[in-house]
Amino acid sequence: MTQNDEYPKVPLLDLEPIHRPIQERLRSALLRVLESNRFIGGPEVENFEQEVAEYCRVGYAVGVSSGTDALIASLMALGLDRNDEVIVPSFTFFSTAGSVHRAGARPVFCDIDAETFNIDPTKLEALITHRTRGLIPVHLFGQCADMDPILEICAKRGLWIVEDAAQAIGAQYKGKMAGAFGDCGCFSFFPSKNLGGIGDGGMVITNSPEIAEEVRKLRDHGASQRYYHSVVGGNFRLDAVQAAALRVKLSALEQWHEQRIANARAYCEAFSDLQEKGLLKIPGQSAGCRHVFNQFVIRVPDRDGLQEHLAARGVGTAIYYPIPLHLQRCFDGYGYHEGSLPESEKAAREVLALPVFPGLVEAQRDKVIRHIREFLL
Ligand SMILES: *Cc1c(COP(=O)(O)O)cnc(C)c1O
Repeated sequence: MTQNDEYPKVPLLDLEPIHRPIQERLRSALLRVLESNRFIGGPEVENFEQEVAEYCRVGYAVGVSSGTDALIASLMALGLDRNDEVIVPSFTFFSTAGSVHRAGARPVFCDIDAETFNIDPTKLEALITHRTRGLIPVHLFGQCADMDPILEICAKRGLWIVEDAAQAIGAQYKGKMAGAFGDCGCFSFFPSKNLGGIGDGGMVITNSPEIAEEVRKLRDHGASQRYYHSVVGGNFRLDAVQAAALRVKLSALEQWHEQRIANARAYCEAFSDLQEKGLLKIPGQSAGCRHVFNQFVIRVPDRDGLQEHLAARGVGTAIYYPIPLHLQRCFDGYGYHEGSLPESEKAAREVLALPVFPGLVEAQRDKVIRHIREFLL
């Protein structure tokens, strides 16, 4: 360790420096809700929906209770039957496939591109059957999936697209916002996402007035007029207190994205020689796209060794994700086995997420870099 270690600990994510500059605005927003006595729906939610729709340049945004509920409500709005199939990447957070299962259909797992960790469009067509209804591309870690070939295949085969943009609000693909490509896009406001609430929250964005209307209805138990239920929905509503906090945070989001991108760039520069020596892989970035680095994920052969080394030196890391979804026990019945999707399985063995949050100071970042070099060289 260095002489005066000002930062003995570098957590994977620290919300304190993120919230510190907006503390007063957050407090008054929360107080405003408390004093309004409007806790479910109301002007905070409506204004926040409007602001997200503008930010993403889409026609409609519907606030819901979580990213998972955004996916479920979207799938319910599109309508799924028992034997329907929906293609999802295997290397993602559980919710992507769990939502398909819960909406009553069967998730069909697709392998990923080794560079970007996103669904591999060249593997899609082979998975399409007469039962396939749609596709859920995930914009993993804050980088958009390769949407051009995905859109082309889905248009040709008559499939809908629900984007899982839970980690990617503000990410762009050839100038267009994540979530704005598909029939609809889903965001999560879980506290660790780039736009994180002070609890759970989510949103569905779309350019389709019909889907927006259907999701609005579904979030209120399928009733557009209270106590008159045309379909069975759920309680998928967004709290006013979340909307009020998120409106404050949305106003700082671009600045936070830029800080994440700057941190990622510093890591990439510091690790370029390690990558040349084949000791570590920095995340691949698609040309013409804006990666917003919800996570900065490297690959290393001795991942567990590196994680332990860093933990012993106060550096927080995480493994997103240790088990690809096609190998999860709850999906045993679908007949996948080890070797079914080799790139997803390899990623699960090699990935390690490093601290990249806005507010990470240079001395902290340097400490992460120093300990990684020390372990690998
Ligand atoms: C976080 C996340 C979700 C679920 O969002 P919640 O708000 O936690 O329900 C879905 N998909 C991906 C890829 C996520 O990262």
